[in-house]
Amino acid sequence: MLFLKSPFLKKLFVTLFFIVFLGFGTLTFLISTYVRSSFRQTQLKTISNVHDHVRTSILGWFQEKRKNIEGLAKMMENAPEHHPNFLKPFKQAYSEFADVILINEKGYIVATSERVRYESGIQLSDREYFQQAMEGKSFISGFFRGRFRGVATLSISAPVFKDGKPHQVLAGFITLRKFLEIFAPIGNDSEGLSPIRIHFINARGQVISHPEYITQFISNPEIETDLKFISDSRAVKDLLKGESGASIYTHDGKGYYGAYSWIEPLQVGLVVETDQEVQESSLEVQLRSMVLATTMVFLVLLGFIAMSLWYVSKPIAQVIEAMENLISGSFSPGKLFFHRTGSQVDRLVDTFQQLREAVYKRETQLKDKAARDPLTGLYNHGTLQDLLQKEYARRKRSGKPLCFLMADIDHFKDINDNYGHSVGDQVLREVSRILETCVREGDVVARYGGEEFAILLDSDKPEVSLALAERIRSRIESHPFIVDGKRVPITVSVGWSCVAPSKVSCCTDIVKQADGFLYRAKEGGRNRVFGEANVS
Ligand code: GH3
Ligand code: MG
Ligand code: MG
Repeated sequence: MLFLKSPFLKKLFVTLFFIVFLGFGTLTFLISTYVRSSFRQTQLKTISNVHDHVRTSILGWFQEKRKNIEGLAKMMENAPEHHPNFLKPFKQAYSEFADVILINEKGYIVATSERVRYESGIQLSDREYFQQAMEGKSFISGFFRGRFRGVATLSISAPVFKDGKPHQVLAGFITLRKFLEIFAPIGNDSEGLSPIRIHFINARGQVISHPEYITQFISNPEIETDLKFISDSRAVKDLLKGESGASIYTHDGKGYYGAYSWIEPLQVGLVVETDQEVQESSLEVQLRSMVLATTMVFLVLLGFIAMSLWYVSKPIAQVIEAMENLISGSFSPGKLFFHRTGSQVDRLVDTFQQLREAVYKRETQLKDKAARDPLTGLYNHGTLQDLLQKEYARRKRSGKPLCFLMADIDHFKDINDNYGHSVGDQVLREVSRILETCVREGDVVARYGGEEFAILLDSDKPEVSLALAERIRSRIESHPFIVDGKRVPITVSVGWSCVAPSKVSCCTDIVKQADGFLYRAKEGGRNRVFGEANVS
């Protein structure tokens, strides 16, 4: 690129590159950080909403189950003679209960939903649900190992009053398997978050919703202390500390969005989780397209800067080149084409253009002045020599004859002597004008020195030279030179020579020859023409 040749513009370009790069880099970083953080806030809010929905559903459901049990207990109180018969239809109506049992005040089961009379000797007086109900309160227990079936289960109990005092306890059992069947799928397809996982945690930090936990529960009495079901995720740690909330955390090497809380009545921790990577995949795509877009804009801007620098540097480079030409003298006249920028650079270019024209004009004037004789305005001796040399070289190449003519005013000294030097000068000027009218375009008329004139002919023909010599002589003779109202006769003697370039060794030879013929004309009596052609 043109502007890269200039150290200043190169530096400017590199500086602009870094400024734009840093600007875009920072902007992209800030935007992506903002977008990422607001995306995460939104996701956390959404997962919290799902969590709240699940929690409310669970609490509402258990409240309803409690009311069912309380209702049955009330019915039994009102119809004591039939009450063991109520258990079976109740269980049929509310199939989520695995069992419904009636316990007497000593803690023994007296009836179940399967058998109206039951005498197994199973003692339940140590169970909290029994004790609470015997104190007159309905109660929901946490999950425990059921003595009756050996499965993980929880109990909803209510007292059956007699004479205003609790004398029996009604208890319905909901197994962990049933509980999970109902609530584990609840979060699926919630609020666009997918896939959602719901975990339930017990007070020891075990994930009781782990599929293996349930299957192993029946056969393994040690399961409640088995470490493999302990989760070390932040959600579980917070839950065990009694905290609830929503956060992004990692466990087992994966990131999660999670919302969690402890459900006190059930003694169960609820964790609603979704996979961070899956959730953020669309965000990553968006961020990547944003980075791509900013990179494109960055490149376009960079291109624009490069273009602008090129745009400005091009006319400057043109000016420099034109200046170099001006300095070396190899410039030609006429307007240069400069590329316009619409900026201050245009003024620089225009001013340079004016400077260039002024310099050219002045140089031309000076050259012309130096080339001419100040008195007559004709070419001077030096210019004649230059032109003669050039013409000689040209004719030498073409082989055409070179024709040269010398004229000398006769008895000019007398004019000076008789009328004064200024009249002599005037005569010299008038003779010069006559000479100019005699020649053709392309002929060079010069003042050779004093009252001597020389003409380098454009023509290569002896007859043209002779005719010119004669024309000069006769025109001057017939021209009226007037001094003090009187005509002063002025004549010239002319010597001419037409020579083939091969006949002379250098251009001064032809001057000598013409001068020789001039001398012969003077000798012959003046006001006459003498010359010779040597062209074959
Ligand atoms: P001839 O016919 O033999 O050429 O005689 P001439 O008098 O013309 O020749 P000469 O060489 O004796 O005299 C030339 C004179 O021209 C002498 C000199 O003073 C005069 N002259 C030379 N240059 C100038 C000039 O610039 N102005 C004036 N007024 N006179 C000049
Ligand atoms: Mg003379
Ligand atoms: Mg003379």
